[in-house]
Amino acid sequence: MDIYGGEVNRLIEELSSLPGIGGKTAQRLAFHIINMPEERAISLSNAIKDAKQKIRYCKTCFTITDKEECPICASPSRDHKLIMVVESPKELAAYERIGKYEGVYHVLNGVINPSAGIGPQDIRLKELMIRLRDDVDELIIATNSSIEGEATAMYISRMVKPAGIKVSRIASGVPVGGDLECIDEVTLLRALEGRIDL
Ligand code: ZN
Repeated sequence: MDIYGGEVNRLIEELSSLPGIGGKTAQRLAFHIINMPEERAISLSNAIKDAKQKIRYCKTCFTITDKEECPICASPSRDHKLIMVVESPKELAAYERIGKYEGVYHVLNGVINPSAGIGPQDIRLKELMIRLRDDVDELIIATNSSIEGEATAMYISRMVKPAGIKVSRIASGVPVGGDLECIDEVTLLRALEGRIDL
């Protein structure tokens, strides 16, 4: 029996398609939204719409930004010869929160994962190789310590080393299978400072 009617169901269905949101949570969120003052609900939906329409990938590092080039890539006070490779903008944000890293980033927007059909050509590796034609002192590989993250790190290392660029990997203080985003700042800083040459 359809208790709520079409529009409520539609909202619940949309919400339950989000990662980590099960049916019950979707229902709870839907009722929360329905009970919001109208202007708050519209402001929420506008935020989603504006994010989709205005946010794009930085032309240099491929993080998400609302400009052609992100503030980090555009900053003259960052060390542009030091590039840290991360899986997603979430990890970039985690390192930025420490506030101790002075280099720039390269965001792969994924990892190599053959079982999910994601190959090297599906992440921003070609763009990384193009960047490395410029003057680069060191490439820090900071992919997660999952199997896919490690495999991607090895792949990049093999690809970059012949170019004579120093390649390092963040230290394994980061728990295996750990998601960089969830790790506290001290551990993250230790992982960065204790990085090892590949
Ligand atoms: Zn950028």
